[in-house]
Amino acid sequence: MRSAVENGQFELHFQPIVDLATGKASRAEALIRWNHPKHGMISPAEFIPLAEETGLIVGIGDWVFREAGFQAKRWCDLFGTGIQVSVNMSPIQFQSNALNISDWLDYLKTLELDAKHLSIEITEGLLLNASDDVKEKLLRFRDAGIQVAIDDFGVGYSALSYLKRFDIDYLKIDQSFIQNLETDQNDLVLSEAIVIMAHRLGLNVIAEGVETQAQRQLLLEIGCDYGQGYLFSRPLSVIAFEDFLTKTLEP
Ligand code: C2E
Ligand code: CA
Ligand code: CA
Ligand code: CA
Repeated sequence: MRSAVENGQFELHFQPIVDLATGKASRAEALIRWNHPKHGMISPAEFIPLAEETGLIVGIGDWVFREAGFQAKRWCDLFGTGIQVSVNMSPIQFQSNALNISDWLDYLKTLELDAKHLSIEITEGLLLNASDDVKEKLLRFRDAGIQVAIDDFGVGYSALSYLKRFDIDYLKIDQSFIQNLETDQNDLVLSEAIVIMAHRLGLNVIAEGVETQAQRQLLLEIGCDYGQGYLFSRPLSVIAFEDFLTKTLEP
């Protein structure tokens, strides 16, 4: 893994995030893949934990951010209005002293990419006992125009007070709530409660793991803003994603 970045073994795939009301993709999540010469495609669920343990996540995350910015710039040029690409940030990476936000912002300037075309996804745990350093970094991202989403919302923690202390833009409802939306009344009630709360707080909501039309319909009914999942598309290679955009953006 130490040499995988230099050897070009990492790839970003992009999964469209769709506006539930119009069906148009205005965003995409960048998801890393490791194309290993011997073992083939390795999923991030397998190597991200190892990268976190060894500290390699900082270098990998640096590559992810730059690559996501590079692609976002291309799509602005190719498709006019452009789309917003979201990047996953591990809490270890976010808390690291080696995370250099100034370097990233300089890179975006070199690309001539407006920072609004990038967002970051963080998890609730990072905000629960946030140090001054974490608070300052979050402010720097938002001051630069990079939006912030809470990933996997609803699992793991029940403390909501951080929502009023931090300026957040999106909540991503964890896929475990969406999976049984049609059969489990509790999941539907909880999802609706999340949407109502988020909207009152001025946040938008993205549902993760949308796989069926019925789920999409229910999400529309409870006022959820965006959906992401196999119903719309699996994560796609750059070429396949551009194909997807070309088709969906056609009049
Ligand atoms: P995540 O951020 O929650 O990403 C969503 C995961 O759900 C992705 O798995 C995606 O392929 C999968 N997914 C999307 N739609 C559906 C669906 O309809 N049904 C089901 N069953 N699954 C769906 P993936 O790509 O294997 O990524 C797994 C996790 O690895 C991510 O979860 C994220 O925590 C982490 N990860 C991925 N890329 C990066 C990265 O660049 N940096 C960091 N730090 N973590 C990453
Ligand atoms: Ca994510
Ligand atoms: Ca997630
Ligand atoms: Ca806000």
